Formats: sequence, C-alpha cells, structure tokens
Amino acid sequence: MELDKMDENDWKYHGEGNKSLVVSHVQHSRVLRLLKYPAEDSENAPQTPDQAFRHIQNIVDFSSSVMRPLLGEKFIHSGEVVRLPLEFVRQLSIKVQHQRPAWRCNKVMDIYSGCALCLPNLTLPSLHQSTHTPTLCIEIKPKCGFLPSSKHVSKEIKTKVCRFCMHQHYKVASGKWKRSSLYCPLDLFSGNRQRMHSAIKHLIEEPQNNFKIFKGGQCIYGDSDELLDLSSLLQHLRPYFLFGNNRFNSHMTNKAVLNNFIQVSSLNVLLSGGRGDGGGKGRSFCEASLLSRDRSRHGSQALPSDSVLSRILQTQMLDNLDIEGLYPLYRRVEQHLQDFPKERGRLQVDGPYGEAFLQKLQKCPGEDDGSVEFAVAKVHQYRVAMTAKDCSIMVTLVPSSEEEEDDEGLPGFSSSVSILDLDPKPFDSVPRQLRLDQKIVSYFLRTAAALP
Ligand code: ATP
Ligand code: ZN
Ligand code: MG
Ligand code: MG
Repeated sequence: MELDKMDENDWKYHGEGNKSLVVSHVQHSRVLRLLKYPAEDSENAPQTPDQAFRHIQNIVDFSSSVMRPLLGEKFIHSGEVVRLPLEFVRQLSIKVQHQRPAWRCNKVMDIYSGCALCLPNLTLPSLHQSTHTPTLCIEIKPKCGFLPSSKHVSKEIKTKVCRFCMHQHYKVASGKWKRSSLYCPLDLFSGNRQRMHSAIKHLIEEPQNNFKIFKGGQCIYGDSDELLDLSSLLQHLRPYFLFGNNRFNSHMTNKAVLNNFIQVSSLNVLLSGGRGDGGGKGRSFCEASLLSRDRSRHGSQALPSDSVLSRILQTQMLDNLDIEGLYPLYRRVEQHLQDFPKERGRLQVDGPYGEAFLQKLQKCPGEDDGSVEFAVAKVHQYRVAMTAKDCSIMVTLVPSSEEEEDDEGLPGFSSSVSILDLDPKPFDSVPRQLRLDQKIVSYFLRTAAALP
C-alpha cells in the first residue's frame, strides 16, 4: 500500500461499530479503521492530528502488549497506525456515506486527522484461494459470559440473570432494538454443545450487533435492512453445507443446512484448542435463558483450555469485584490524583500500555492493603475485562479444493480464528459503568422480574 498514492476507488465500505468505521481494499486483504465522533462536534474536530495519532497508537499498544498476552498470540493482529492524505479521506467519507446504516449516523467519520489503523482483512485471509468458492466468515460479539460472584453485588438478581439478558429488556424498551434477542452469553460460554448450538441459533435469528456473516469479504447478514433475511441467507449457505450422514444430499432441508452451518462454523472451531479445563464447569445458568428450565440435561462442560472462548472468558473474569466493588477503588485513585496530579503518569492511568502496565495488573495482590497501587491495579484489571466483554470473534472458513478434511475434521474447510476490537476503555468510563449498571438492574427489577 503506497500511502501517497491512495485512491478512494480502491476502497469500499466494510462495516462500523460505535467508535470506528472500517473500509476494505477491493483487491488486497487489508482494511482501514477510521475513528468516528459525534455529529454535533463536526464543526470543531475533537482531536489534533498528533492527538489522533497518539490515540490510535495507544490502541495498537494496548492490543499488542496487554490483550495479546492475555488472549493468546495466535488470535490477535494489532495492525499499525497510518497517516493518509486528507483529500483521500474526504473523498472516502463521501463515497461510503450512503452505505452506512441510518442508526449509526449520529456519528461522523474523522476526516480531519488523516490517521487510521491499518489491519489485515480478517474476513478475507490472504492465504487462500485454492478454490473459486468464496470464503465464509462469521463474526460473534459474545459479551459477558459469567455471573458476578463478588460479595459487593447488592442486588441478588445480578447473580441469577446475566447482564446481556437484563440489558436486552432495557434496549428494547428504549427503542434501540425492535425485538428482543433470545441469545444468552452463558450458553455460548458453557462448553455444552447443545447450549452453544442454541446460543448461535438465537444469534442468527436476531443478530442485532452481535452477529454477522461475510461471504467473499462482503457482509451479507447482520442487522441492516440492506442485508439478507434468514431464508435468503440459507440459500447462500446451502451449497457449502450439503453434507451429513449421507454426504452431499441435495434434498437437504433448510433446517439441516442451518444445523451443519452452526456445527462447522461455530461449534467445531470454537471448541478446538486442546482438552483440559479452560473453565466453564460449575458455572451456573442464567435464569433468562430458555434452556435453564432443563438444567439437568444442559450442564456446563469445561471449555478446552486453549480455546478462544476460554481465553476470552478468563480475561473477562479479571472483573472479579463487579462494578459495585470496583467503584470505591476508582474513587480512591481519583482522590489520590486530585491531591497528586503528577502521579497520573507513574500509575499509568492513561498508559503507556506496555509490559509494565500488564505486570501491574497481573501482580495485583489478592487482599486490599489500602494503597493506591492496589486500587489502580484493580481498575486496570476491570478495564481489561471490559475490553474482553466488548471484543468480537472472527471465524474464517476457507473452502478447500477437494473433499479433504482438515485437522478438526471439518468437511471441506480450513478455518482460522481471530479476535478484534481490543481498544482500551478510558479510566473515567468507570462512573458511567456504575450508572449504567444501576439503570439496567433497576429497570429489570421494575419490569421483567415482576412478571410471573
Ligand atoms: P464496537 O461498537 O463493537 O466497539 P468499534 O467501533 O470499536 O465497534 P470494530 O468492532 O473494531 O469497531 O469494527 C467495526 C466492524 O468492522 C467489526 O464489527 C467488523 O465487522 C469490521 N472489522 C473491524 N476490523 C476488521 C478486520 N481487521 N478485518 C475485517 N473486518 C473488520
Ligand atoms: Zn443470560
Ligand atoms: Mg466492535
Ligand atoms: Mg470497540
């Protein structure tokens, strides 16, 4: 990629989240991830070019030096910061505008800094293409996979119904989503194949912003009116998943195609990564999940210790005090910084995100000794856990040329797994998280929990 010869015609809209917009190269397996900010601020750019560069470099450092060791080297591609010609960025923003989903347009793409993050396109691995069949990729944003067991939790409901399921009620009531999703993260992280199968099925039925499918690098399924409905999706998937007991059966029902798709794209890949105990056993059910009514048949099994789900769950569980137990420690740090503003650097409140930051949070003592060091280490742990609760898993399936089966016994596919969206959450997001937690829980207690 020659940065001085950038042409907007070589790039197309790929997708976006709450904080960034992503464009992909039409030929090479590359994406550019550009920052977004609220439309009201568009008159005065919120960051100078140097601040934007520093901000994105922080994201790269956090991803490569903090999240990568925790989640596993093989899953993470941190990318690099690039400076782009402003004219290119402006043309690009005009070009992609009409493809953006309306509900995302309260934010605009940053066209002033010229800085972006350049990453490999994980929906389209460069190592292909032995066949003419387009690559499939599924993206799952799994969210938090455990119930808090901290003694600081003040509302019992938080130990029974998971955060995602409670949040659903709030999101539907506030109009963010039209319909409620039946997905429960505890089922996905359970290690039990039936529960995981049901979790993926619910994601497909109501993808919201937790599930997408890409074919040949293009998003074909997810939450947007422009995309396919479920039955058209199955027509796309059908040629890939026509196997079963009597292999390559062209009369297969849609239901069987869907089952094969879930089996191959999710279960086999998400459960690969050795045997051993990667957590999961003994973890409880979420009472909002449909499967919780039949617990005896759907117990949790241990996740393979090196599986992507196990690594994500372990990292999420660094939040072991819950926001309610963490908040007083946050206040301790905040108070200390008011008294000694110069300590901000030494305590690495806003980075740098390197080895020292990781060590601080890994060497945190188990008991509170009343120090600001302890408090800051717990806040660091909480922020890392927050990032792991917000990341996405990308599973890429490359159809292989013959009927050969790969190591995992997937018929006709080779697969790879990556984790993306590993931005650090700012220090001062903690009070916001406490308020959000209170809002979600009290809304749930007032409405859903009151139902029989
Ligand atoms: P969120 O609101 O989830 O925090 P975000 O604004 O931080 O999202 P990302 O999740 O990093 O943004 O990117 C938005 C979308 O762009 C992703 O959901 C994914 O579909 C796509 N995407 C991001 N990075 C890549 C990549 N390296 N390869 C392929 N697609 C990508
Ligand atoms: Zn749940
Ligand atoms: Mg994201
Ligand atoms: Mg993000």
